Amino acid sequence: MTSNILMMSGVKSLKEVDVTGKKVLIRVDFNVPMDSHNNISDDSRIRAALPTINYCIDHNACSITLVSHLGRPKGAYDERFSLKHVQKRLERLLGKRVEFVNDLEVLKSEMNQCSTERVFLLENIRFYEGEKKNDPVLSKQLGDLCDVYVNDAFGTSHRKHASTYGITEFVGTKVAGFLMMREIEAFSKALEHPIRPIALVVGGAKISSKITLLSAVIPKIDKLIIGGAMSNTFLQALGYDMRGSLYEAEFLQTAKEVLETAKAHGVNVYLPVDAVITDSIEHPVDVKVVPAQDVLEGFMAVDIGPASVKLFSEAIELSNTIIWNGPMGIYEVSQFSKGTYKIAGIIGDSYAYSIVGGGDTADAVEKAGEKENISFISTGGGASLELLEGKILPGFERLDRR
Ligand code: ADP
Ligand code: MG
Repeated sequence: MTSNILMMSGVKSLKEVDVTGKKVLIRVDFNVPMDSHNNISDDSRIRAALPTINYCIDHNACSITLVSHLGRPKGAYDERFSLKHVQKRLERLLGKRVEFVNDLEVLKSEMNQCSTERVFLLENIRFYEGEKKNDPVLSKQLGDLCDVYVNDAFGTSHRKHASTYGITEFVGTKVAGFLMMREIEAFSKALEHPIRPIALVVGGAKISSKITLLSAVIPKIDKLIIGGAMSNTFLQALGYDMRGSLYEAEFLQTAKEVLETAKAHGVNVYLPVDAVITDSIEHPVDVKVVPAQDVLEGFMAVDIGPASVKLFSEAIELSNTIIWNGPMGIYEVSQFSKGTYKIAGIIGDSYAYSIVGGGDTADAVEKAGEKENISFISTGGGASLELLEGKILPGFERLDRR
C-alpha cells in the first residue's frame, strides 16, 4: 500500500508546468447532487475545482476546456444529466463567462481561433459512448483539444475512462490539479503510517460498485461498520426478509463472502440491530423502529435505529483512524436522517484522524454541521475505497512524474 500511495503522490502538479498561452483541458468532477428540478443541492465539487481553474486563468492559458460527467446517463443524451445545469453556478463562482459546448468538432474549431483565456464547458462526457469504454477514438479527440491535460477529478480517478485515462496517450504534458494533489496528500497521511485501529464505515445506495471492493479492503482495516442500503443487502444475505427495502439481490453472495473474509482476517463487522421503517418514502404515514430482522410487510428500512447508533458509536469511539463513505439512511428526508447525522456527530467528536468521502456523505456531514470537525473531506467515495485497498488509481497512473 505504502509504495503505491507514494507513487501517486509523486505525480507532477499543475504548478510545475507552464500553461501561459497553452490550450489546457481540465478533467473536473462536476458530478454534483441535484434535486428533481435540477437545482444544485451542494456545489462543493465545483468549488473544489476552482483553484485549478483560476490558476490557469491567472496564468493566461489560451483556452481552458472543462470536461466532466454528471450522473449516470446511458451513453446518450439525457436532459436530466446535462451539464448546462452547472454552467450558471460555475460562472457565478468563477466570476467569468463560461461557454457551453455540446459538440467536440465545434469546440475544436472554436479553439483554433481562440485568442485568450476563454473557458469552455463541454457537455456531459458520459453522453459519449466511448467515455466509459476508454475508447481510443474519443480519447484522441479529447487529446487533440489541448497542449496540457490536467486531471483534477479525484472523484472519478478510480475509473479507466477516455477522459481520465485514455486521453493521456495523446497529450504531451499531463499533470495533476490542486484537488488531486490535496486529496492524495490527505490519504497518504491516513494510509502510509495509519494509526490503528482503523474503522471503515460504509453505507449509501451505490451498492454494486462498492460491495465488490470490500473484500479487498478488509485486510487493511480493523473494523467494518455497515449501514444504509448497503446494510440491507447484508441483512438480506443473512436470511432476514428486508421486504420493500432497497438492497441488491444480485450481490447477496458477495455480501456473504465479505463476511467470511472479515472473519478470516479477524475484522469485526457491525451491522444494524434495528431499523427505521416506513410505508412510503415520499408520503410516510407509518414510521416505526423495529429490530433489524422484523421489517414488516409493506415497509422498507430507510435508516439505522437508535440501538444501531449506540452500537456503531462504541466501535467508532475506540478507533484512531476513521474512513466513512455512504450515508446510514435516506438523509435527504429529515425523518430518516437521524442515523446519518448522529454518526456524523460521533465521528466529528472523536479524536481520530477522520476522512469522509463521497458526494452525498460530504453533503450529509455539512448539513449535520460537522464539516469543521472532520480531519479531511474527500470528494471521492469509490475512489477513497480503492485507495484504501492499496490500488494505484488510473487517474494518477499515467500522469507525468516529478
Ligand atoms: P456517496 O455519494 O456518499 O458515495 P451513495 O451515492 O452511495 O453515497 O449513497 C447515497 C444515497 O444513499 C443517498 O441518496 C441516500 O438517500 C441513499 N440511502 C442510504 N440509505 C438508504 C436506504 N436504507 N434506502 C434507500 N436509500 C438509501
Ligand atoms: Mg452519491
